[in-house]
Amino acid sequence: MPGKVTLVGAGPGDPGLLTRKGLEALRKAEVVVYDRLVSPAILAMMPEKAEQIDVGKQAARHPVPQDQINQILLDKALEGKNVVRLKGGDPFLFGRGGEELELLAQHGVSFEEVPGITSAISAPAYGGIPVTHRDCCSSLHIVTGHQRAGKELDIDFEALVRTKGTLVFLMGVSALPQICRGLLDAGMEPHMPAAVVERGTTPAQRRISATLGTLPAVAEEAQVESPAVIVVGKVCALAEDFDWFDKLPLKGRRVVVTRPRERAGTLSARLRALGADVWEYPCIATIPLDPCPAVDSAMERLCDYEWQWLEGHGKDARALGAVKLAAIGPGTDRELKKHGLKADYVPEVYDAAHLGEGLPATGKVLALRAEEGSPALTEGLARRNIACDDVASYRTVYENPRSQELRAAVEGTDGLLVTFTSASTVKGFVSSVGEDVNFSRMVGMCIGQQTAAEAKKFGIPVRVAREATMDALVETILEGV
Ligand code: SAH
Repeated sequence: MPGKVTLVGAGPGDPGLLTRKGLEALRKAEVVVYDRLVSPAILAMMPEKAEQIDVGKQAARHPVPQDQINQILLDKALEGKNVVRLKGGDPFLFGRGGEELELLAQHGVSFEEVPGITSAISAPAYGGIPVTHRDCCSSLHIVTGHQRAGKELDIDFEALVRTKGTLVFLMGVSALPQICRGLLDAGMEPHMPAAVVERGTTPAQRRISATLGTLPAVAEEAQVESPAVIVVGKVCALAEDFDWFDKLPLKGRRVVVTRPRERAGTLSARLRALGADVWEYPCIATIPLDPCPAVDSAMERLCDYEWQWLEGHGKDARALGAVKLAAIGPGTDRELKKHGLKADYVPEVYDAAHLGEGLPATGKVLALRAEEGSPALTEGLARRNIACDDVASYRTVYENPRSQELRAAVEGTDGLLVTFTSASTVKGFVSSVGEDVNFSRMVGMCIGQQTAAEAKKFGIPVRVAREATMDALVETILEGV
């Protein structure tokens, strides 16, 4: 059976601007063919098993030629694969999406197109520029500023000026002086407000505002680089009042998220929504212990226990009968709820020590948790003469790619924020960057006291969340900026 190709618009950069339909397609992909302009955070959403083909421009290499991309899509589809072609912005707006579909159509391969949010509208929007406004214009024109080698710009400037509409130029950075000259020569006012939005919707976004007459010089001074959109029109004057993105509390602040990849999503999304430059760097991964005789036998003897502290080992809810459940924190409790269960006890402070001290047990306790879980739990229970079977149901592994980039950031940035959501993320982080690194310039944002204690061992300056929840961690990050 031949496969299928889905052309997906990945949006301009902010991963939150990928559409739901696009994400759904990406999650089902067996092959993903992607471009330079697709953000790393979106690339991280594709299935690990999927074959990933980068056809974008790499530093010194040229991009894969268009006919070869078309051929890759066709070949993979003919192999029966479910192919996603991920493109920056919207695939059909200066994205050559149409060309990619032609060959597929000729061969009768089925395809779909999932429109994306285009940079032509969203980059100005994040720069505080609404591309239309009733008081300013009655049309919007999106123009390519791409110049074919050795050729003049093929733009009818007189026609554009006559429209009195907002003009948005894509691919126009190198031709910016010619574009502005062309508009001036065609009679546009030199005082017409104009702007460039570079790397729109990303934490590195910059807006440069000027007038048509001054924009080339101002942009050169600011060393504007591609990708950037050029906006010309009265609406550009609104940016000073509407500039919301630059004002976000964490705008441009780099925050390293060390949680395991599968759990990083919510924290990263919340930080991004606050403008942070989130760097997902999973330092640990949890893998279920399988087979796991200790858990199996504990499950056989469930009736022996009065209490269970679960970190989510699944069994049909009915097997639990009258057993009471405790969760270390609201996150675990939420997981239980997904399985139709509810924790009877969650300690006030969400850590092993408080669970051990506070668990209102009289009978035997089964603790299902990580292999190297904190001894604070079992010690606390032992002090209170409560019997406990401490059973490991998963293992924490330290991902250890010793990133030079991360190491350099830790040593070279003042106030680099690194979030630690457990003592094991601290261990994983330290083993990745190396214990010999100078940690004194960074700040470890820790979810609880035990995590902070681990960080302090390595000389990492810490701030500790008021309580061990993501909300409190985010609040603490905000308080510090
Ligand atoms: N299909 C894409 C456009 C592809 S052409 C879309 O709909 O957005 C590439 C041009 O898009 C770049 O030269 C730049 O002008 C613009 N562009 C893409 N991403 C951008 C971003 N994040 N910020 C500003 N401009 C961007």
